[in-house]
Amino acid sequence: MELARWIGVYYVCPLVQVLAAMVPSAVKKGAGVKKQRFIYLTEGADEAIEQLKGKRQKQIVTALGQRGALDLASAVELRTLLEEVGCTDGPVKKLAEKQIAKIEQREILTSLPAIPEPMVKSPEKVVLNEDQRKGLASIKAKIDSGGFGVTLLHGVTDSGKTEIYIRAIEEVLRKGAGAIILLPEIALTAQTVQRFSSRFERIAVMHSALTGAQRNVQWRKIKAGEADVVIGARSAVFAPLSKLGLIVVDEEHEQSYKQDTVPRYSGRDVAIKRTQLADAHCILGSATPSLETLLNCQNKKHFNLVRLPKRVMNLAFPEMKLVDLRQSYSTRDGVSLISEPLAERLAEVLAKKEQAILLLNRRGYSNFVFCPSCKHTLSCRNCDVTLTFHKSKIRNGPIMKTVTGRHMTHGRAVCHYCLAETLVPEKCPLCGKGMTMIGLGSQRLEEELANKFPAARVSRVDSDSMAGGDYYRVLRDFGSGRIDILAGTQMLAKGLHFPNVTLVGIISADTCLYLPDFRSNERTFQLICQVAGRAGRSAKKGVVFVQTFFAEQPAIDFALKNDYAGFVEEELKHRKSCNLPPFWRMAVVGMRDVNFEKLEKACGAMRQRIDRVVERDGLEVVVKGPVPAVISRIQRYHRMQIITQAPKAEILQQLFASLRAMGPVRPAVKLAIDVDPVNLL
Ligand code: ADP
Ligand code: ZN
Repeated sequence: MELARWIGVYYVCPLVQVLAAMVPSAVKKGAGVKKQRFIYLTEGADEAIEQLKGKRQKQIVTALGQRGALDLASAVELRTLLEEVGCTDGPVKKLAEKQIAKIEQREILTSLPAIPEPMVKSPEKVVLNEDQRKGLASIKAKIDSGGFGVTLLHGVTDSGKTEIYIRAIEEVLRKGAGAIILLPEIALTAQTVQRFSSRFERIAVMHSALTGAQRNVQWRKIKAGEADVVIGARSAVFAPLSKLGLIVVDEEHEQSYKQDTVPRYSGRDVAIKRTQLADAHCILGSATPSLETLLNCQNKKHFNLVRLPKRVMNLAFPEMKLVDLRQSYSTRDGVSLISEPLAERLAEVLAKKEQAILLLNRRGYSNFVFCPSCKHTLSCRNCDVTLTFHKSKIRNGPIMKTVTGRHMTHGRAVCHYCLAETLVPEKCPLCGKGMTMIGLGSQRLEEELANKFPAARVSRVDSDSMAGGDYYRVLRDFGSGRIDILAGTQMLAKGLHFPNVTLVGIISADTCLYLPDFRSNERTFQLICQVAGRAGRSAKKGVVFVQTFFAEQPAIDFALKNDYAGFVEEELKHRKSCNLPPFWRMAVVGMRDVNFEKLEKACGAMRQRIDRVVERDGLEVVVKGPVPAVISRIQRYHRMQIITQAPKAEILQQLFASLRAMGPVRPAVKLAIDVDPVNLL
């Protein structure tokens, strides 16, 4: 309750909504719980049987006697018994009335196992290296001190962070407490879960791929004290462990820890708060820590920094190669997603029977469909974005021509925000000439690969091609060498471990830089570093090709040099001069309505209110807007934002508490407050 109240105040959200988010709905609904009736004989049933007149009643008593159903533990399930004897509940009820038999109801939990069987049970323990030993000792000292503390474990990919998490968990288990490991949803692969389940006996998992029944079973297991290691995504931070000793937040910089619906909490920050309330320890792990966490390490006494600068076994970092797309891009025959140097290396890798991962941060076939004569583009009727073309198997659709001149088959254009889709018109609706398409997309990449490397076995991984368990199947096939090239969106950048991957290509490192968001540099840097970590995870040396239109962008330059410190210094300077996070705090008031005039009025009224409170209470707050959001219309709703910044979180809390007390603004529109936003879309 204390944690819930803190979340309610900090993230400006009513307590009921916080509480609703803390307990999975599957638990509230009792998913997978079946009530079953069981029957057994009471003492003295032997004598009573002589006086029984009913044939059925005698049959039932005999059947129960034969099975030795003499107490609740040995009771027989009633429905099965009735079917066997071939009668209704009538005779059973009579037996119960005469107290010859007793019927009791029990709750049975039914679900498939949620945790894959470990491939190896308790594998041999590795011997920690020097850096790992020092890091673990520092964490153990904090855990032993028994109070709250946070350790940032800043270690490059493959530096042995997970090994340290495991030892730290063992330590808290020895003390009779439990631990939670938070991972980005996408990293919760069978691979990772198995690694933990081979080291710990009593584990529970909580992630989105579970069925309601599985989720309920896992939650109850934790609640009943039958599991003391919980591994899960963001919401597992609320796992009902009665005695909490440790929370690990792996890849703490990941923006997916932020929930994008009410309550808009950050799983990482709630983890820190929960460990604080529980006098427990929190480990934040990352190869590219967020600037927020880094600054906390410098300024806050509870924060402790541990570095693992080297890869385990001292594996060399992959070689980084920059490809300036401006030099190879617009040749006569149009857009090529795979540059010459990348194509050459890819051919070599395939010849050596090694594997490659190609990353493109955009789904679909191309960015947009347009008319070359009148420049008309297809855009969503509900949202302020152009539609993305998806090639599909619809027959009788129009034939499209690509920029490269090849003929496309049929397709549909989809809006990635509202998912509205329409068939692509063959002719431009405005001028009647043929439509064409341009841009980058994972589907286009797949096609280009098929043309350039017809013999290669290619699989595409993105949320369009991956339904259900397909993702895991593809990863398994890739791991066992049945696939040569994995191509896809950033799903591929996270936590996968494939020793035979010696080439990683980032088709466009710029996709994050296009967004007008103050974190776009940070994202670009993180993405390149993370992807680079996928290459050369064994003795074979890896190479990473980074294709870009902005070769001199500092974020890209620092990432190529693998210079985290340099990047941070540069970026922090910029953030400081603009009063941006992590120095100042930010909260965004997002407002939307289908009627633009009404929305403008409401935003104006809100801005006035904010100004009044700021003035009245003498708050140090900078207010910007109302301005249209980056995507100014989604699902027919116009969207505007008012951005507030303050040097301390408490000032913003004070502001929003006052605003809340004033009731809704007029005219009434939809309103969302996002504290510590991770993107400004
Ligand atoms: P990270 O979490 O930083 O990516 P891991 O803990 O997953 O790193 O370690 C990478 C690989 O190296 C794993 O296969 C792990 O079992 C192995 N490993 C970790 N520490 C050691 C060690 N001290 N000696 C040998 N192998 C190790
Ligand atoms: Zn739309």
